[in-house]
Amino acid sequence: MIIVLKKNCSKENVQSFVEKIEANNNVKVNAWEGIHNTVLGLIGDTTSVDIDSINAQDFVESVRRVQEPYKKANRKFHPDDTVITLNNGTKIGDGSLHIMAGPCSVESKDQICQIAKDVKHSGATLLRGGAFKPRTSPYAFQGLKAEGLELMKEARKQTGLPIVTEIMRVSHIDLFEDVDIIQVGARNMQNFELLKELGKIDKPILLKRGLSSTIEELLMSAEYIMAGGNEKVILCERGIRTYETFTRNTLDISAVPILKKLSHLPVVVDPSHASGKSWLVESLSMAAVAAGADGLIIEVHNDPTHALSDGAQSLTPEQFDKVAKKLTALKSALTNI
Ligand code: PEP
Ligand code: MN
Repeated sequence: MIIVLKKNCSKENVQSFVEKIEANNNVKVNAWEGIHNTVLGLIGDTTSVDIDSINAQDFVESVRRVQEPYKKANRKFHPDDTVITLNNGTKIGDGSLHIMAGPCSVESKDQICQIAKDVKHSGATLLRGGAFKPRTSPYAFQGLKAEGLELMKEARKQTGLPIVTEIMRVSHIDLFEDVDIIQVGARNMQNFELLKELGKIDKPILLKRGLSSTIEELLMSAEYIMAGGNEKVILCERGIRTYETFTRNTLDISAVPILKKLSHLPVVVDPSHASGKSWLVESLSMAAVAAGADGLIIEVHNDPTHALSDGAQSLTPEQFDKVAKKLTALKSALTNI
């Protein structure tokens, strides 16, 4: 971190400021006295340095970070890829491609169990399905809630597919004990109380990027979970809001190689919520695999026109089968390059 002090900053001010920074943080401060300004260089772990309080000093002209504000999620401190092993032995982040597939919402036992069988047959390695749904309208279907979770478990029992489903509140953490991957949805990416509590459990978390969040904010949210001791975080790019209205969101494909460069955590792409249109899912999925994603999370519904949520972006099992085959072929072609 570099701090530039104002011209008229007295020697006494500089000295007491330096002492205060060194006493409150695990850093050493080097000072250079120039003709016009004094410049301070902070060496060491600056993650806990409060940049706002430094900026608030009236003798400080500017502050700049040269190191990322996240540490546990940072590849610099953990050069090897993180591989997350699920209860059934499935490994995410080991170089293989994982397709999580299933409906936006769990609607009934028959629905979720049939979709689970279909997507498994097509090569999906995890079943997705929402039981607690964050809907823009309070009048829209809110999910089957606890019953939905039980139906996800039933579908897992029938197929062996691990399950991924969304949590919305801290008080539900116990309900999710037997879930393989807990999803934190885009709307809760900065629900810091939820993130802190999820940091205390030993369970993989699929953390989706917020609708208007930067890559650094996504990594800081991952850091919240990891700082609590849970290092099993999977990052998910699901499109961000831009001025484009043709698609539901804009898939930030460059986030994939950027996240892989900045972090050691696995990266998954959600082409369904990124596009909002089922016919775009194949292209976006192919782009995600080519960009280096460790996995995809794709919405599949047995009857999209009657789906209780997100039907327009859901693939039928037949469409999913074709997409999954192409993705597998693309992945093996890329592995041989
Ligand atoms: C979902 O996965 O169904 C969902 C609500 O996703 P997001 O949080 O990315 O909008
Ligand atoms: Mn959805």
